[in-house]
Amino acid sequence: MMTDMSVEKRIEFLKEEINKSNYKYYVEENPYLSDFEYDKMFAELKDLENQFPLLKTPDSPTQRVGSISEKFFSHKHKYRLYSLDNTYNYEELTIWYEKICKKYEQNLELVCELKIDGLAIALSYENGLFELGVTRGDGITGENITQNLKTVKAIPLKLFEPKTLEVRGEIYMPKTSFEKLNEEALNKGEKVFANPRNAASGSLRQLDSTITAKRDLSMFTYTGIFEDNLEKDIKTHYDGMLKLKELGFKINPNIRLVKDIQGAIEYCKEWENKRFDLNYATDGVVIKINNIAIQKDLGFTARAPKWATAFKFPPEEVTTKLLDIELNTGKTGIITPVAVLEPVQLAGSTVSRASLHNFDEISRLDIRIGDTVLIKKAAEIIPKVIKCMDTKEHTALPQYKPPKTCPSCGAPLEEREGEVGLYCTNPECSQLMCAKIEYWASKEAMDIDYVGPSIIKQLYDKKFISSPADLYKLTMQDLTQMDLIKEKSASNIYNSIQNSKTRPLNRLLTALGIRYVGKETADILAGEFASVEDLTTATIEDLASIEGIGDIIAKSIYDYFHNENNLKFLEELKDLGINPMSKPKPKSNILAGKIFVLTGTLKNMTRDEASSIIKSHGGKTSSSVSKKTDFVLAGENAGSKLDKAQNLGVIILTENDFLEMINGNKE
Ligand code: NAD
Repeated sequence: MMTDMSVEKRIEFLKEEINKSNYKYYVEENPYLSDFEYDKMFAELKDLENQFPLLKTPDSPTQRVGSISEKFFSHKHKYRLYSLDNTYNYEELTIWYEKICKKYEQNLELVCELKIDGLAIALSYENGLFELGVTRGDGITGENITQNLKTVKAIPLKLFEPKTLEVRGEIYMPKTSFEKLNEEALNKGEKVFANPRNAASGSLRQLDSTITAKRDLSMFTYTGIFEDNLEKDIKTHYDGMLKLKELGFKINPNIRLVKDIQGAIEYCKEWENKRFDLNYATDGVVIKINNIAIQKDLGFTARAPKWATAFKFPPEEVTTKLLDIELNTGKTGIITPVAVLEPVQLAGSTVSRASLHNFDEISRLDIRIGDTVLIKKAAEIIPKVIKCMDTKEHTALPQYKPPKTCPSCGAPLEEREGEVGLYCTNPECSQLMCAKIEYWASKEAMDIDYVGPSIIKQLYDKKFISSPADLYKLTMQDLTQMDLIKEKSASNIYNSIQNSKTRPLNRLLTALGIRYVGKETADILAGEFASVEDLTTATIEDLASIEGIGDIIAKSIYDYFHNENNLKFLEELKDLGINPMSKPKPKSNILAGKIFVLTGTLKNMTRDEASSIIKSHGGKTSSSVSKKTDFVLAGENAGSKLDKAQNLGVIILTENDFLEMINGNKE
C-alpha cells in the first residue's frame, strides 16, 4: 500500500519519465524506451491519477497528446487531433465495449482497422484541392509540412469531387524501403532509423522537400471530417471510409465491419500473426463505434476519443539487460557473438538470447555487457539487438573488447580480406566441425531428421564422428551407446541418416558449405551440372558464365573442387553411396518439341550420351519410329527403324549431321 507521499513521488517520477520519453520519441525521433514500457508507465500514471484525482495536474502527459518541435511553422488545427486509449488485453477491450453498449442499451456495430505505425497527419481540402497538411503535434497545434506532403503520391492533390473536408491518416514507410534506406545509411556511415515509424517521421520532417520526395512514403487515410452537404449523408464511420475511397484517398483494404466485440476480438487474433506478411508496420487494431451519432454523443477525454480504442499487439520491441556476450564458432570458422539476456516477454514468447550480428556492429552501437538494450523480433526472424539504451549506467561499464582467440579451441583468430568478422584459424576446431555437421544435417541441406546439435555433440565428443561422412558409417550399435539415444530413437536416427543418401544434387551442394554457396546458388549449379564429378571438371570461366554466379563465387566453387582434402571427402561420400545425379536444365532450346529416335552404333558417343545431348537442348527421344518422329539419328548397322523412317519420310541424320546441328548452334 502506497502512502500519499510515495504516490505523489511516484506520480512525479512517472510524469518526468513520460515527458522525457515523449521528447525523445516525437522530437528527436530516437526513443529510449520501448513502446511497451512506455505504455506500461502511462497506464500506471493514469491509474494512480484516477485513484488520487487531486494529484492530477493539467500538465500531466495523460492530459495531452504528443509533443511539438519548432522545426517548421506551427499551425493551429481547425479540429483538434486526439490520441487513442489502448489496451493489451481482450478483457479490458470487452469492458470498454460493454460499458458503451449498456449506455445505449443495444449491441453496437464496430469497425476494425489495422493500427498503422506511422505518423499522424491532417490534410485540408478546399473544393477538392489539397490546401494544407499538418502533423498532429500536440493535438492543438501541429507543424505545417504541406510542401513535403505534396511529394507523397498516395495523397491526392485533387479529389474526384470538389468537396471541402479534412482527413486524417497515417504516413508510413514500407518495411522494404525502410530496410533499404537503413542499409544505404549504414554504407555511408550515416544515422540509421530505429524503426519504420521513425524513418517515416524523419523523412517527412525534412526542411528540404526534395529529400522527402526521394523517400518512399505512403499514407492510409483513416477518418474524414466532412463539411458541406456530405456530413448529413454519412451516418456511419464505415460509410465515411467508403466515401473517402470514392473521393480518391487510399484506404487500408483490411478494414472490417463487425457486429460486436466478439467479431473485433476475432479480427485482432487473426491479424496478430498475419500482420507480419504486410509490407508496413502495424502495432495493433483500432476499434471504432460505427454509428457517428453515438460517436458524437460519447465525445472525448482530454486526450482520446471515448468511442474508439486501440488493441495493441504483444510488443515486437522491448528493452532488457545484456547479461553476457556468448561466442560461437560457426561452420566457416566465423566467431558469432550472441547476446545473453535477462529473460523478457517479446511478441508472445520469452526471449533470453538475441543476435548481435558481428563485432563491428557491437562497437558501432557501443554495446557493453551490463547495458540495457532494445531487442526486436519480427515474425520468424531470430530476435536481434537494435541498440543500446542511453542509460546512466552505460558510461561506467567497460567497453567490450572482441576476442583474440577461438572460444572453442583457443586458436588465434584472423580477419579475412573483404569480410566482416573474425575467423578461427584451426580447421580441426571442434565447434567448427560440429557446426559443419549440424549444417549438413539441417532442413535446408541433407534434411536428416532427429540429428540435432546435442546428438551431434555427443557423437563428436565420443569420437564416433569427426566429419559429415562419418554419419553414414554409424551403426545401430554405435547409436545405442549414446546417453541421449534410446533403442527406438536409435533406429529412427539410423534410418533417417541412411535415407538422406538419396537427397538430390542441389541439397548435397548446399550441405557442402562451400563459401558463398547457399541454397539458391546450389539450385543454380544443380540446374547446370549433372553430378559432383562434372563440377570438378568445370573451369572458373565455365562457372562464371552461368547466370547468377559472379566471379567471386565462381572462384570459390572452383577452389573447393580443386582442394585435395575436399576431393578426398567427395570420394569418400561416393564410396558411401552419396553421389546424386541431376537433370541439368537445357543448354539451349533448339530441339524443343523435336522427337528423335536413335538407331545403330554411333562413332563418337554412346546412344545414352547422344540422348542426353538431345535432352540438354530441349528435345525428346523415343524408342520407336512413327509419324510423330522428327529425326532418326542413324549410326552404323542401323536396323528396321531406319527402314521405317525411310518409308514414313522422316528426316534421317548421320552422326555428323547431328553434331553440326548442335554445334552449329553454339557459334
Ligand atoms: P498511438 O500511436 O498509440 O495511437 C494513436 C494514433 O494511432 C493516432 O494518432 C493515429 O495516428 C494512429 N492510427 C494508426 N492507425 C489508425 C487508425 N486506423 N485509426 C485511427 N488512428 C490510427 O498514440 P500516440 O499518441 O501517437 O502515441 C502514443 C504511443 O506512442 C504510445 O502508446 C507508445 O506506444 C508510443 N510512444 C512511445 C514512446 C517511447 O519512448 N517508446 C514515447 C512516446 C510515445
